Amino acid sequence: MISLSKIYYDFLKYNNSSELLELHSIPYNNFDSIPNKFLTVLENYLEDNELNREQLRILTSMEIEHVSVLMAVANYIRRRKKGDLISFSKNVFIPLTQLCRDQCSYCTFKIEPGEGELLVPPEKVLDSARKAAQAGCTELLFVSGDKPEIIYDVYKDKLKSMGYSSTADYMISMSEICLEENIFPHSNLGIANQSELKRFRKSNPSMGLMLENISERLMKPGMAHHKCPDKYPKARINTISTAGELKIPWTSGILIGIGENWDERIDSILELRKINDLYGHIQEIIIQNFSPKPGIKMEGHPVPTDLDMIKTVALSKLIMGDAVSIQVPPNLNSKSYMLHVFSGVSDLGGVSPLTIDFVNPESPWPQIEIMKKTLNEFGFTLRERLPVYPGYLKSEFIEDHIYQRAIKFVDETGFVAEN
Ligand code: SF4
Repeated sequence: MISLSKIYYDFLKYNNSSELLELHSIPYNNFDSIPNKFLTVLENYLEDNELNREQLRILTSMEIEHVSVLMAVANYIRRRKKGDLISFSKNVFIPLTQLCRDQCSYCTFKIEPGEGELLVPPEKVLDSARKAAQAGCTELLFVSGDKPEIIYDVYKDKLKSMGYSSTADYMISMSEICLEENIFPHSNLGIANQSELKRFRKSNPSMGLMLENISERLMKPGMAHHKCPDKYPKARINTISTAGELKIPWTSGILIGIGENWDERIDSILELRKINDLYGHIQEIIIQNFSPKPGIKMEGHPVPTDLDMIKTVALSKLIMGDAVSIQVPPNLNSKSYMLHVFSGVSDLGGVSPLTIDFVNPESPWPQIEIMKKTLNEFGFTLRERLPVYPGYLKSEFIEDHIYQRAIKFVDETGFVAEN
């Protein structure tokens, strides 16, 4: 077994990591000064590939002067499977409806009837799909508010007049139409039941639902998920697990900085690990940091620090292991995503050359060429993937007619062919 000190000193020589640590004022280089309690846990991890809750708690107490050793181990795990390759997908973002029955304290996405279109009509969806495919995008990201038809009659009637019974029904229909345009839908509906997921699977090679957090405490008055029936953790776990039973490649993740504590953060990742151990369908975990915006209920709430992000990313890599990618949104971390790459991140998510991030409209996407250049400077290679990861391009996970389309876009590695 490779020793922890070797991993550490290799890390300090790897891909200009020391330069980056200095840039972010992260101390390094004195392995002997790192407290034994951290070294023992990490050495045990290298032996067993497992961390229990108590061991994780010890690591969450790390301060900035010791965190480089945690980064070194997470980087080692990422590199063992992914090498120096960082992936992303080129997408177009369609907010199918911005109405929502929930009231998250950090939201800037939701609108009320009269504040904008009730939904994006089919002709606009189709137009966006065509333009995106022409611009070389391979992913069409559908996002919506949660179940607005339950509280807004005007929206329900609109759907009905168009021949749809629910947001899910509409999103499924739009997915089917867009797939015909040679772009791959990746739907983020929110809570979905088994029969809806079965229908989605026929046109979506992958889908997503963030767990966000496992804590019911966050649903209490004054907390971020008060009056949000769709943020009930058991309902989200149920959707993610049902997708697992149906073998739908899945994107999940957590939000950090919304009032949760370290135990709740760790328990959320452990739950995703548990689900993935059962079904093996979770292809990536997004670590999405809270980002305040003017006018929201949480406008004055503190944002996660670099240290919070490094520890969350690195511990997620250790918990999820080789098979599952860890992703951070580069537009929410434009100055620090390289730090996250050195902490275990191997994916930078969907980047759109055409549309804004409607969930975080104040944070523009970095240009793909700039991302590529920055990664190159640190010795990494950026590769484009489809919304479905290369490892899930097989009959167990996607419908044959989608597979037949997908293989026309990729090379032998499963990433998008560069020509
Ligand atoms: S579920 Fe999404 S759209 Fe609805 S309030 Fe929460 S963040 Fe906003």
